[in-house]
Amino acid sequence: MSRYKCLSCGHEFEAKKENPQSLAKPRQCGKCWGYFVVPLEEYQRCKARAEEWIATKPLGIIPLWDVIRGVFAERGLRLSPRKTLRLCEYIYHEIKREKGWKF
Ligand SMILES: [Zn+2]
Repeated sequence: MSRYKCLSCGHEFEAKKENPQSLAKPRQCGKCWGYFVVPLEEYQRCKARAEEWIATKPLGIIPLWDVIRGVFAERGLRLSPRKTLRLCEYIYHEIKREKGWKF
């Protein structure tokens, strides 16, 4: 069983059946029925790497797009550009909220 995260409402859930057919279909959130759903583990890796970037690099733009593409590629997973963009926005807002950035 794998856990997933919805990028529309933040809901985290477990996918009960893992089979090739269900993997081919886009996963849907059981709470808001949104399709912006990503594996939770990859989501956490992307976020951790973005935070690491902030902590170790001088001020600048976080290359979130590259971070996310990199994490998914390493795991042998593909993410559509629309989902990548959505994930960029989501992680950026999460980090901003957690760090209390006002801009
Ligand atoms: Zn949702």
